[in-house]
Amino acid sequence: MASPRRMLVAGNWKMNPPTEAEALVLAAELRAAVTPRGGVKVVICPPTIWLETAGRAMDGSGISIGAQTMHWSAQGAYTGETSPAMLDGVATHVIIGHSERRQYDGETDEGVGRKVASAVEYGLVPIAAVGERLDERQAGAAEAVIDRQLHAALSRLERLAPGGMAIAYEPVWAIGTGEAASPDDAQAAAAQIRAILRERFEDEADSIPILYGGSVTADNAAAIFAERDVDGALVGGASLKVDQFAAIVRAAAAAHAAR
Ligand code: PEP
Repeated sequence: MASPRRMLVAGNWKMNPPTEAEALVLAAELRAAVTPRGGVKVVICPPTIWLETAGRAMDGSGISIGAQTMHWSAQGAYTGETSPAMLDGVATHVIIGHSERRQYDGETDEGVGRKVASAVEYGLVPIAAVGERLDERQAGAAEAVIDRQLHAALSRLERLAPGGMAIAYEPVWAIGTGEAASPDDAQAAAAQIRAILRERFEDEADSIPILYGGSVTADNAAAIFAERDVDGALVGGASLKVDQFAAIVRAAAAAHAAR
């Protein structure tokens, strides 16, 4: 019997590509190559300035648009920020708490909790990212970091959104390094996350996709998606390579069909 939980493959373009013309080409090529199938939701997350451009290019394709971050307030004196109200009609999803924002932009656990709750309030699907740094892993603190970050991310959420949410386990040491976590390690973290979600949301937790992120490619996706609690991927570098991303989506569809 097919799992009622859909897989989710989200492509994080980060600060790429550098021009609108290139963003349009990438979006058009992705649209042509990626066929969202039953059981797999596909989201691309371009830079904020290309959200509308990419959204128009994806119109009618079944591929959804996500932002890479947002502020928690609807408006105000927050120079350079984008609010959840501004994303209304432009994006359906939003990545919250990506480790690059934690590392370079001072994103805190507290801020992540505010943003997750705000995204839900404004009808966006948050993809909340958690994961340990290499030094934390080497110190044996990976589980504690996941526990702390996930509890903080959920701390202000009063209810699960009808559209749901997703959690991405992204060990920092695996992001952009070519060193993905092993399928076993991805499963262990996903199972830990699932247990915390069950404590919090009981049976509703089973509707929340738990993604793995960190050097996912066409070559390793199938093995990672074969793990019971891994329901897709947050893909960085490979989301800019059309053939790779399309193959990752196909791997997710195959994994879903096998569940
Ligand atoms: C990411 O940025 O979320 C990510 C997982 O990057 P990469 O796939 O390049 O490791």
